[in-house]
Amino acid sequence: MKAAELIAEGDVAALPAPQVRVTEIFRSLQGESNSVGWPTVFVRLTGCPLRCVYCDTAYAFSGGQRFGIDAIVEQVVGHRTRHVCVTGGEPLAQPACLLLLSELCDQGHAVSLETSGALDISGVDPRVRIVMDLKTPSSGEVMRNLMQNLDHLKPSDEIKIVIGSAQDFQWAEQMVREYVLDERFDVLVSPVFGAVEPLQLAEWVLGSAHRMRCQLQLHKMIWGNEPGH
Ligand code: SF4
Repeated sequence: MKAAELIAEGDVAALPAPQVRVTEIFRSLQGESNSVGWPTVFVRLTGCPLRCVYCDTAYAFSGGQRFGIDAIVEQVVGHRTRHVCVTGGEPLAQPACLLLLSELCDQGHAVSLETSGALDISGVDPRVRIVMDLKTPSSGEVMRNLMQNLDHLKPSDEIKIVIGSAQDFQWAEQMVREYVLDERFDVLVSPVFGAVEPLQLAEWVLGSAHRMRCQLQLHKMIWGNEPGH
């Protein structure tokens, strides 16, 4: 469901605080992570303090509408779907995101959070599976990686590294070595759409001494770059 539909069904004036700004809520297939392929409700929160050069969700940088946590949870529950993914933008840029995550867990959902890795994750409900980016040099935001976040990830969480060049892959290997990432978490590497061929990434992963998982974005294979999927 898109934000416009959500707006039509909500009564903004009557919503209690706290609120978050939402770009869209929709149901699709999870295209990434260890939950790939599961029908999933996505809650895309508005705003991001980063500007990765390959960003495919720039439409979530601004706009959106503010909604109370209860109204969002009600919309999500209405989809009768076990998996829920809170994404962005950068969801943690809105403090009330932490409450939203906990409320979704309370409803019995399998909740995941997609975060840039640039903001503190220590307050995230431990029931939430965190998929945290490490930003590569070619993203233009490598200096934003908050490496202390690694101390707050659980073994069941995932690290995602988006690879835009051969240098990025070498950097990813260096990070895996330095922080022993592959013994602590699942490390997933994805190609920047249109910049690195999947075959090339596959060869890099197969040739690496480190345990990394190559992932392609299922939703883009099916729907391309169309928002709402
Ligand atoms: S962190 Fe995510 S939403 Fe923000 S600019 Fe980077 S890719 Fe886009």
